[in-house]
Amino acid sequence: MQDVIQLLPEHVANQIAAGEVVQRPCSVIKELMENSVDAEATSITLIVKDAGKQLIQVVDNGKGMNEVDARMALERHATSKIKKTEDLFDIQTKGFRGEALASIAAVAHLELKTKTCDEELGTAIVNAGNEVKSQDPVNCNPGTSILVKNLFYNVPARRNFLKSNSVEQKHNIDEFQRIALAHPQIEFKMIHNQGELFHLPAGKLRQRIVGIMGRKIDKHLVPIEENTDILSINGYITKPEFAKKKRGDQYFFVNHRFIKSPYLHHAIQKGYEGLLREKTIPAYFLNLKMEAKSIDINIHPTKTEIQFENEHAIYSIINSAVKHSLGQYQIKPVLDFEKKSEFEMPYQAYQKNVKPPQVEVDRNFNPFQQQTESVDQRSPFQSSQNHALTGTSFDLNDDQFIQQEAEEKLFQSKQDLDLSQVYQFAQQFLILPLVDQILIIDQHRAHYRVLYEEILKNITIETASSQQMLFPLYLDFSEREMQLINEHKNILVSIGFQFEMLGNQLKINGIPSEFQHDQIDEFFEQIIADLDQDLPESSFEKNDYVARSLAKPMAVKNKFSLKQEEIHQLINDLFECKESTRTPGGRKIMLSQTAEDFKNKLL
Ligand code: ADP
Ligand code: MG
Repeated sequence: MQDVIQLLPEHVANQIAAGEVVQRPCSVIKELMENSVDAEATSITLIVKDAGKQLIQVVDNGKGMNEVDARMALERHATSKIKKTEDLFDIQTKGFRGEALASIAAVAHLELKTKTCDEELGTAIVNAGNEVKSQDPVNCNPGTSILVKNLFYNVPARRNFLKSNSVEQKHNIDEFQRIALAHPQIEFKMIHNQGELFHLPAGKLRQRIVGIMGRKIDKHLVPIEENTDILSINGYITKPEFAKKKRGDQYFFVNHRFIKSPYLHHAIQKGYEGLLREKTIPAYFLNLKMEAKSIDINIHPTKTEIQFENEHAIYSIINSAVKHSLGQYQIKPVLDFEKKSEFEMPYQAYQKNVKPPQVEVDRNFNPFQQQTESVDQRSPFQSSQNHALTGTSFDLNDDQFIQQEAEEKLFQSKQDLDLSQVYQFAQQFLILPLVDQILIIDQHRAHYRVLYEEILKNITIETASSQQMLFPLYLDFSEREMQLINEHKNILVSIGFQFEMLGNQLKINGIPSEFQHDQIDEFFEQIIADLDQDLPESSFEKNDYVARSLAKPMAVKNKFSLKQEEIHQLINDLFECKESTRTPGGRKIMLSQTAEDFKNKLL
């Protein structure tokens, strides 16, 4: 038999190796920015076009490379960072494998310009098709600029595997933020399609966190510091009330390297025990410093897990440091979890029974009749016409008319419904006896379905009613959050939000009529967390997804007592739905029991 084993040609071997290092645009960003950090740059600029699919460029003012090194840098296993085996156990730099630039060059076009500070001229290298096309002396500033174009031009399968621009860009921003947070003493800029997304001046960690997360986080930051023999901790955790339902603002850096560690995350979460609202996760930014020898970072180049020698000890040190910090800054448990955060909101006026200016004369006004309606008791089912806090006054008769119309419809279509018998049980179920069966309806799921259909209709035909705010509400967001809001602006408008985007602030002038004012904060928190996921690509699926994530937080909660009119309205609305028996997620909304069922149960 003939010999069949051959050595792979170098360019094929490189392409295969590249698959390990370069998976998507953000992998290139990570490698290039880390090289700039290793080169001791004090200013690093990232330029991205088309979410990195078209172009990624990183420009630094670091130590640069001479002509020979510039050429060498693109070779596989060429590195200036380790020289002997022992160095492997004491890695102080981000890179050490010497394969990043070679891998990138194997799957993209790459242009390198670099100059050391003691040279007159720098070196420019153009690399395409995995070979050097040109190498010339060039006049440039000290430092290095690496430009990567047409990523995966020669690996169509990889290129097709890339997600939409907004998904890829989210990964890019995540990567940029991780590196920027790990190195507050370095100035960073990020530019996307000509626009400046971030400009983070060199400074302290606190400034860096605020630069990335937005101003609103500042007052929630709690410093943490602990020095022991095996590690030192410094950084910030956040007050419990700032904890979010969404993940993503949890940062561990070990020797300035971003890592993920569910185990250490648990140590922090435990430190907050009893202080957090249900299912919320605190944000934190922790720098752990330990001897490079005591950790094994020889992991897969794109992964972020590392192994510690003293895992258990590290767990307990972190855990007690968190408790200590929270205690020291006298952070007390949030006792009333149901009360939401209305006391901190800047629009407290709303909670104080403020009356809107009445333009029209109220002919029914009776000075001796007690005004009892308070804002807090407004029902989540009220239609837009009867929100006491809308800027315009409303006409009671109109409202009655609408109510009546809805009921008429119901009785035409569902002859056998008798709503006079309905009642709420256990603040969660609506019990509705019919002629031959009893319906047991889950109130939260029913309302979720009703709102979902309403929102879906509004998104597609854009007819949402909006209630004007008497005073605009200002909410602060991070760059990333504003970007998400901007991307989904049309949908938010179509369901009834009216707002202006002022830098990192949202000025909200109008909200959907189904909405309570004290829900807005929580609503945005939830919707941003949802939109931050990889959204489906097709427009129906996207609308469906968005409608679900909008409807869910708006739906009335269980353990919430409903008035008789509210129960009626909900049941009416539910039976008007295209699908009344299942939630958008497919869960049962109601249970029906016939006399026969009861008989069988009583056997
Ligand atoms: P590694 O970072 O693992 O050494 P890379 O392929 O990322 O491997 O880089 C190869 C070498 O090129 C580095 O060791 C470094 O000497 C040089 N290099 C890469 N980027 C820069 C930069 N921005 N400034 C100076 N030198 C650089
Ligand atoms: Mg590197």
